[in-house]
Amino acid sequence: MNRKERAQRTIEALREVIPSPETELKHENPYELIVAVILSAQCTDERVNLVTPMLFEAFPTIQDMARAEPDDILPYISSVTFPNNKSKHLVNMARRVVEDYHGRIPEPVSELMTLQGVGRKTAQVVSAVAFERPAFAVDTHVFRVANRIGLVKNADTPFKVERQLKRAIPKANWSEAHHLLILHGRYTCTARNPKCEICPINPVCIYYARAQGLPEDVSTLNEKKGKYYCKTRKHYFDDADLHTDRHGTEQICCPACGSMNVYYTKSGKSAKKVRDFRV
Ligand code: SF4
Repeated sequence: MNRKERAQRTIEALREVIPSPETELKHENPYELIVAVILSAQCTDERVNLVTPMLFEAFPTIQDMARAEPDDILPYISSVTFPNNKSKHLVNMARRVVEDYHGRIPEPVSELMTLQGVGRKTAQVVSAVAFERPAFAVDTHVFRVANRIGLVKNADTPFKVERQLKRAIPKANWSEAHHLLILHGRYTCTARNPKCEICPINPVCIYYARAQGLPEDVSTLNEKKGKYYCKTRKHYFDDADLHTDRHGTEQICCPACGSMNVYYTKSGKSAKKVRDFRV
């Protein structure tokens, strides 16, 4: 299966379980969206949604925010991450938009990125969600999920992931796919303990296929004899060697023979790991 086919099957499967993929950040207009997205950097949408109603009540328009000082904004956003920086970003962003864009949030990603506090990801979200422009923002969820499923290959930066996803997915589906992958990453393909057994994509997921190929547990090991057991040489040991496998994953291996057929004696589980993509 090539990446385009895998991407198509992924989108089709996710559509079935996520019928209306959209941002979970509450907003009524582009101004509220850009503020919410700036606040959501390294913070949860849930937390942002708790603070924005009062913030928008106090500063209902971008002109109101432009007239404010960071110290006026701070009390409203003190419970989100990096409130000092974000209050400055919000005021400076609002002033630029009022001065240079007559109070209208610019639509192109390139112009959005010139506003303070607006990086590539924020600009793409605003451009796609507020103005329905084709953009593909890659956040931590999209990065992890795209790599795990195998929608991208050797993509170790958000920019590489974005480029490869844009090639694999038709332009008309970029915005939808972006939200599908975020929501899938948030609720099913979580960073720790992804729910692979109930995941609708597991038939096409490379991570799942590799995880299925891991050796089964061994129930007869004696923890007192050593921390690890090498099944190839059939001996116990405490100090393991490390080896990077062909997928770039650091694996525990036997110090005597170099075998990666190693088990934890406490749990009986194989020490082999499938490459993960948490950022
Ligand atoms: S099968 Fe597992 S790793 Fe693959 S997409 Fe689903 S939850 Fe994520």
